[in-house]
Amino acid sequence: MKYTVLTLFPEIINAYFATSISARAIQRGIIDYRAVNIRDYALDKHRTCDDAPYGGGPGMLMLSEPLCRALEAVGIQKLSARPSGPQVIYLTPSGRPFNQDIAKKLAAEQELVLVCGRYEGIDQRVIDLYINDEISIGDYVLASGEVAALALIDATCRLVDKVITAESLDEESFSGGLLEYPQYTRPEIFDTIKVPDVLLSGHHENIRRWRLEKRVEKTLRSRPDLIRTGRELGYFNKETNNVIDRLTMAEGDKENE
Ligand code: SAM
Repeated sequence: MKYTVLTLFPEIINAYFATSISARAIQRGIIDYRAVNIRDYALDKHRTCDDAPYGGGPGMLMLSEPLCRALEAVGIQKLSARPSGPQVIYLTPSGRPFNQDIAKKLAAEQELVLVCGRYEGIDQRVIDLYINDEISIGDYVLASGEVAALALIDATCRLVDKVITAESLDEESFSGGLLEYPQYTRPEIFDTIKVPDVLLSGHHENIRRWRLEKRVEKTLRSRPDLIRTGRELGYFNKETNNVIDRLTMAEGDKENE
């Protein structure tokens, strides 16, 4: 996987790739990245990259010319001349909402080209000519596309084959339509709270059942929408469905008391 990030602040992207999982994955040759400074492709001596929007209104907009020149410089042609090639994604609050399923699909690509907006965003013509996906990382407005791009990179990078061990991905939140179970590490007692006995028992089957129950309990409480979707899409096996029914009924009984 190679990430190409077009940005006015490459130092933000460089700092991310210099640490932790992503730095190790680069060292091991599993992923690679380049941070391209859009300002290097500005046309005037002041290296201007923004201007006021036509029609008036607050704020500035990123100019199309530097951005399109930067895209062409990294080998991205216009959509009309590009039947295949890397996904070119603009991070924007008006894009489709990012989630774990999209992260999994994008993690299977060979290259992702990410365009980071600033100010009030980018000229619509850049989107029309070059962008084949618009992604939002949530229903709020950030000041910078770099933070959104890094969220997308962070979520996809760990799913790229061999970046982290596959077992740690199987039971985490959103896999199989449920959130993760609570986890504990040493010490056994912390601030009077003891680790649940079952986790100290060494009984693998009981631990598995307890974890499933806790996943369902947490999901019912924090994200009941995931349970509804999971049922509609048939994500859950018989055992999980039974746990959902049992806990939902127990909750209903409590409310009726
Ligand atoms: N005027 C834009 C609007 O109302 O949709 C917001 C622009 S925002 C201040 C500046 C840049 O931050 C955007 O161009 C985009 O790249 C990025 N950004 C902000 N919020 C985002 C979000 N929720 N998801 C993805 N990118 C976002």
